[in-house]
Amino acid sequence: MAGSELVDPTTISGPVQPAFPLTANHLDKFVEYRHTSFGQISTIAKVDLPRGSHFCYITTQIPVPKTTWSSIQTSKTDHIELASGLVYMNHSCAPTLEIEVYSPNSKGEYPNGRAGEFRVLKDRDLKAGEELTFFYPSTEYMSPRPFDCLCGAGEGVCIGRQAGAHFLPKTVLDIYFMNDHIKELVAERDGGANVVEKLGSVGQTMQTVSG
Ligand SMILES: [Zn+2]
Repeated sequence: MAGSELVDPTTISGPVQPAFPLTANHLDKFVEYRHTSFGQISTIAKVDLPRGSHFCYITTQIPVPKTTWSSIQTSKTDHIELASGLVYMNHSCAPTLEIEVYSPNSKGEYPNGRAGEFRVLKDRDLKAGEELTFFYPSTEYMSPRPFDCLCGAGEGVCIGRQAGAHFLPKTVLDIYFMNDHIKELVAERDGGANVVEKLGSVGQTMQTVSG
């Protein structure tokens, strides 16, 4: 692996240096790094792409046992490190890309070695110079490090605090592309709430069974 180690950007004060060359995942034709005003790295589109376009596959994944500040969730129980420039793609509540992850089989193998696909949003063209972003709750059910969102999407669009899909109502999640494992986990969450409501309405207290 070329480049320096992946550094947690919140642990250093100077500009972050990219740990991965953009040649990984063939990103160099489409992406350039830029430092934000906070010294962190963002990823910027170098090309125009029409809505719905394939952007890239994830091919450099490294499975990890649990969620980290930089990992991506690929099933209810699986997580990967991207181990490429894609790791610097920031969250936005008005993203430019969506990510569909693929779940591994029981041996932990990903289909054709690919852990997912990034695409341009279905209803919005991507322009050169725009930051590449995606909606983190579309893959992450519970983020280990919640943060106050600075995406600037504005009131009524920005979710305010990004902590994972678990903390957002389905009505908000339904606005975005959601991966199947998130839909299932949210349905389990909301189904559990409905059980409590129904039981409560007949005068029973069975909250302990709802999880
Ligand atoms: Zn936001």
